[in-house]
Amino acid sequence: MASTLTDRLSQLVKTMRGQARITESNVQDMLREVRVALLEADVALPVVRDFIARVKERALGQEVVGSLNPGQVLVSVVHKELAATMGEGVADLNLAAQPPAVILMAGLQGAGKTTTTAKLTKHLIDKRKKKVLTVSADVYRPAAIEQLKTVTAQAGGEWFASSPEQKPREIALAALDHAKRHYFDVLIVDTAGRLAIDEALMAEIRDLHATLNPIETLFVVDAMQGQDAVNTARAFKEALPLSGIILTKLDGDSRGGAALSVRQITGAPIKFAGVSEKIDGLEVFDAERHAGRVLG
Ligand code: GDP
Repeated sequence: MASTLTDRLSQLVKTMRGQARITESNVQDMLREVRVALLEADVALPVVRDFIARVKERALGQEVVGSLNPGQVLVSVVHKELAATMGEGVADLNLAAQPPAVILMAGLQGAGKTTTTAKLTKHLIDKRKKKVLTVSADVYRPAAIEQLKTVTAQAGGEWFASSPEQKPREIALAALDHAKRHYFDVLIVDTAGRLAIDEALMAEIRDLHATLNPIETLFVVDAMQGQDAVNTARAFKEALPLSGIILTKLDGDSRGGAALSVRQITGAPIKFAGVSEKIDGLEVFDAERHAGRVLG
């Protein structure tokens, strides 16, 4: 296994011990290590380039003060920039809408939308004491509608029936009407995904967005997707005003570099992370902790 960035940087820190100031060659050495580490963590190349450029700019202007040596100063520049890129603090779900607050789930097939819909349902019931309705607008896969029914029941929420004979917009309007009449606080709309980006899918989800006017439009993305996450993220960002990201399958063995890529491409905050297949496997995303994981 490759040594982690932390290991490599501490080697550099050692070589810079006793130096009074940061030289340009120190910065170049450090940037080389950061670049390798980010690529190993599967951060997409254009995102790595931007990141390196920002770190370089900051590092070259750094003064070495107090008891730190130049190596330590550089390491802290990297950590700070990573945390800033990943987003700082914690971004909770926004439900500040005339009820029902609508949450639209977007993402490729297999990203984890249906599972995450159930996880969010449970989160909203347990943590925020909300009355939650789910509905599936996936008219292409009857099994997906059934899957949502099962997992919503596990989450303790209510499920609104839909069928492949309906149009997604028709389903959305019927569910919205039901949610209003039965005083639901939140309506979560699960949508169809394709295995790859597809114009018809994007047009359909744009139409659902216009119909539902959701307070949250969440992009669900598989952390294991690595480099490809960038293209997916770009396509969804162009189609929809994303309000947040949910990164799934962080329990896998990826270093989670997709977080950095997706965050930078969309500019939307990562709100939650999926950490198991189980219904309670959802965590509020902690940017700082994740930065540590990406660096290794
Ligand atoms: P959808 O097609 O986007 O609705 O994806 P699904 O919700 O059906 O999920 C696809 C697969 O990923 C299923 O086998 C889920 O159990 C699995 N999955 C979803 N989220 C996670 C997660 O956070 N961790 C793990 N290990 N598996 C997940």
